[in-house]
Amino acid sequence: MLKPDKFREECGVVAIYAHPEAEKLAYLGLHALQHRGQESAGIATSDGESLHLHKGMGLVADIFGEDVLSQLHGRLAIGHTRYSTAGDSALLNAQPIRVQSNKGTIALAHNGNLVNAGEIRRRLESQGSIFQTNSDTEVIVHLIARSKEPTLPEAIADALRQVQGAFSLVMISPDRIYAARDPRGFRPLALGRIPPGAGHQQDTIVFASETCAFDLIGATFERDVKAGELLVVGPSGLTSECYAPSLPQASCIFEHVYFSRPDSLVFGRAVEESRSELGRELAREAPAEADIVVPVPDSGVSAAMGYAAESGIPFRFGLIRNHYVGRTFIEPKQAVRDFGVKLKLNPVRSLLEGKRVVLIDDSIVRGTTSRKIVRLIRSVGAREVHMRVSCPPTISPCFYGVDTPSMRELIAANKTIEEIREFIGAESLAYLSVEGLKKACGDGQKTTYCTACYTGRYPTDGVDVRNSDRQCAALAQAERPR
Ligand code: AMP
Repeated sequence: MLKPDKFREECGVVAIYAHPEAEKLAYLGLHALQHRGQESAGIATSDGESLHLHKGMGLVADIFGEDVLSQLHGRLAIGHTRYSTAGDSALLNAQPIRVQSNKGTIALAHNGNLVNAGEIRRRLESQGSIFQTNSDTEVIVHLIARSKEPTLPEAIADALRQVQGAFSLVMISPDRIYAARDPRGFRPLALGRIPPGAGHQQDTIVFASETCAFDLIGATFERDVKAGELLVVGPSGLTSECYAPSLPQASCIFEHVYFSRPDSLVFGRAVEESRSELGRELAREAPAEADIVVPVPDSGVSAAMGYAAESGIPFRFGLIRNHYVGRTFIEPKQAVRDFGVKLKLNPVRSLLEGKRVVLIDDSIVRGTTSRKIVRLIRSVGAREVHMRVSCPPTISPCFYGVDTPSMRELIAANKTIEEIREFIGAESLAYLSVEGLKKACGDGQKTTYCTACYTGRYPTDGVDVRNSDRQCAALAQAERPR
């Protein structure tokens, strides 16, 4: 069974079919998807005969300079940006992954997590396969390479039928781009088009995790890749195959809560619309007597605007975010209280002093950030802090590609709401209900959502939280005074 803390990953993918500057469009697309992963990034291109690949650790703009991009020849490209936690973050695990097989050279970029990767990997290793990385994506590559199907599209479909879990994939061969989503449609993947222009007489077909990437490269959103669909773009155009029957949809609701950019369309719905509705719904479910509504920037901004509009309480930017926080900074030797959070956020005394504040954030995971922020707000004289969270308590880890810590570290899996309120030091604390969340994100309209992180009900087999660290949570629960 998968241990969520070993396999968690967050990623963004992009693909370009037939453009004279395919590598630059892939680069720009990745730049727009940088929020989906900051650990490593890579681009693979095809010049029609061979694939060229460059990967590196860090941010897209740091990895790809003019010199590197000029080596990535060709009119086809795919790209990947990846965030992964300690141990898993080596360059070896960066994507795209390129392989030679009897069906030619291919490279693949994957967003999501497979729930049966360990099982397949053990089987393939026992049959002699040698794995280069510890990423579950490599399992797909091996399955494609070993497939008995005669053509590459058939081999890809064959491989995809064997894996379970979350995958939005883009692949490149010398003359084609492939894009696919798992039959439950966990993670997003959109299809777009750039009209003919200088140096290209035909439409350029593009794919991206989020439509904000299309906006930057001048592409128009056409539709989402469907769940269970494999799209192939080649010299004879775009073909669609349903490689597996689609299953009840389980689109990740956390994409709308936090992960995607508010200027994106995700699962056919504007993220900004969901975020603002989350705030409105929260105001209806959990009103507060207060003077101002303050967001935790940037993730809480849209929900806080919704909360303010619905409640009539004025919205104020009471916390200012420094956007230039790099990875390396010099910490003072003498401990400064809340130093880490102060690097990123500073309270505005003139707005907060003497005020009763409704503080809005998108989620509380471990609780440590909220605790520090409540302290910061109090340190400049706020009278009361009422914390409101625009999603339900996060009680279960994600197995499908969102970085959630293990059950032991999820504060809401181990403490009651009153205990969390006490821990973060707020006058009051309230979360949105699961029903409110689903309503705000339009559940049942364009898609239905996976809400496993809030309910503990997982839409696939192959996950067993009980055998990971749910036991710890149960123990903590049992030990708690009633
Ligand atoms: P904490 O409760 O201290 O663990 O952190 C909560 C903060 O982390 C919130 O402000 C969220 O916006 C942010 N957050 C929640 N989930 C994630 C995630 N999967 N990846 C990165 N940041 C997240």
